Amino acid sequence: MAQQGILIVISGPSGTGKGTICRELLRSNPHLKYSISATTRPPRVGEVDGVNYLFIGKNQFTTMIDNGELLEWAEVYGNFYGTPRHYVLDQLNNGYDVVLEIDTQGAMKVKDNFPQGVFVYIIPPSLDELADRIYKRGTDSLDAIQNRLNCASGELSLAHNYHYIVVNDQVAAAVQKVETIITAEKYRAERNTDLIDSLCHTKCTCNEHWVPSSK
Ligand code: ADP
Ligand code: 5GP
Repeated sequence: MAQQGILIVISGPSGTGKGTICRELLRSNPHLKYSISATTRPPRVGEVDGVNYLFIGKNQFTTMIDNGELLEWAEVYGNFYGTPRHYVLDQLNNGYDVVLEIDTQGAMKVKDNFPQGVFVYIIPPSLDELADRIYKRGTDSLDAIQNRLNCASGELSLAHNYHYIVVNDQVAAAVQKVETIITAEKYRAERNTDLIDSLCHTKCTCNEHWVPSSK
């Protein structure tokens, strides 16, 4: 059986660059799988159903909640977002590392159920830069942008619940930092107990005839 994959949860205020970082991360790391969330938010220009999100209606979302199909869900900026349970669990069981890009409410629910997950919070270099990025992205109405900026400080105050903070100053550098975190997490002692166990239970075949090698 494959070793269980690592669940990597990425959060941060809207416009901080989570999506950009995740796209780059997935492009260069085939062992990573991205969990496509379900949402009741209408698609933005250029977004594709089944690629960026599963765009569904409120009724279907409620049915998914009732059927226990969501690992977590939350209302964010007036819309509902949720993580389909089966995909995540299947990929982890098959040994793949899975990335969830979700808000802080959802992340904390996941943390309660998956304390072994890795929780990474992405922050912008400054709040002015954050505002600039959301405006320049050009995907949200002025009201939506204002709402997202108003929520940013509250969001940021939850960052201490995460294991790692990554500043997204340059995309490539931020991606590298997340890759470094994932690599380090793979070597954690508690994720490698089977290596120690199997070594301890192996008999050394050379005991009887062993002689020190001369240097
Ligand atoms: P989020 O997913 O956190 O809402 P996005 O990934 O959509 O944020 O990024 C918001 C905008 O900021 C996009 O237009 C993106 O191209 C831009 N962006 C992301 N990272 C950087 C960066 N390091 N420097 C400058 N612009 C960035
Ligand atoms: P956006 O509308 O900008 O794509 O996303 C808005 C917020 O919803 C972001 O903070 C994003 O991380 C969060 N989000 C996206 N998918 C999910 C999900 O499945 N669950 C939760 N809790 N939040 C999500």
